[in-house]
Amino acid sequence: MAYEAPDYYAIEELLSSEERMVRDTARRFVEDEYLPLVTEAFREGRFPMQVVPRLAELGFFGSTLPEEYGCANLGHVAYGLINQELERGDSGLRSFASVQSGLVMYPIFTFGSEDQRREWLPQLASGRAIGCFGLTEPDFGSNPGGMRTTARREGDEYVLDGTKRWITNGDIADVAVIWAKASRSRTGCRRRARCAVRSPASRRRATGSRGARSAPRAPATTARSSMRGNGSCSRNRSPPTSSCSGSS
Ligand SMILES: Cc1cc2nc3c(=O)[nH]c(=O)nc-3n(C[C@H](O)[C@H](O)[C@H](O)COP(=O)(O)OP(=O)(O)OC[C@H]3O[C@@H](n4cnc5c(N)ncnc54)[C@H](O)[C@@H]3O)c2cc1C
Repeated sequence: MAYEAPDYYAIEELLSSEERMVRDTARRFVEDEYLPLVTEAFREGRFPMQVVPRLAELGFFGSTLPEEYGCANLGHVAYGLINQELERGDSGLRSFASVQSGLVMYPIFTFGSEDQRREWLPQLASGRAIGCFGLTEPDFGSNPGGMRTTARREGDEYVLDGTKRWITNGDIADVAVIWAKASRSRTGCRRRARCAVRSPASRRRATGSRGARSAPRAPATTARSSMRGNGSCSRNRSPPTSSCSGSS
């Protein structure tokens, strides 16, 4: 029998027919295609990657973004319903889809250049590329104001220097949206930057080799820095020497 979710707050009647259709599609996918795979995948300690093309086909990656980038152009309620249903299947499944959508595709769409949108969004929407989002650090999770990772400008690039932890898809991603503190501006204020970085996994796939381990770099045009609203300056920190790393 098809799964019937309890509806204690009578939310069902607030949904449009399109939102219900999207929700039911996600529910059917979880019921018919994901749950039969998950027990074995759990026992073997792996993520069932075969669902990625199917998630893409159903329009679940970057579903609120415009069709011109290969996305479904759905509303935010529909996006929430998709994630509610994926979460019922498995929190790891929901994390995979919501990191790809909300933490990678959305920032690239909102803060990236048009070239970055054209390069990455169709690939991420179709599941040909996987993204990750690096904010949390070993010493700073809930308090990103304490972040130690820096983005230092070198010619046309930013060199990232720091350590990230708990990064969903960090070890398999083709592109990483990394949060870092940019070097000081002329006013002496530290600025925050988001950099989209072609990840080591992507470079390995491109070159067919493991390659040398070096500090990640992002084209200078990819960083979008913003001054803090209150104009306050953060304290000077000496940059750590390790390069970016991720864990899923
Ligand atoms: C499965 C998983 C996937 C993740 N994926 C990602 C990812 O893709 N990218 C990424 O950047 N991060 C990711 N994270 C990291 C996640 O965002 C952090 O775990 C989270 O920000 C909390 O940080 P923390 O673990 O360092 O805990 P802490 O910040 O040390 O918090 C510890 C506890 O103290 C509480 N606390 C902290 N500050 C306050 C305060 N000011 N007032 C009251 N209580 C407070 C917290 O609520 C918590 O209970 C992931 C984490 C997990 C578990």
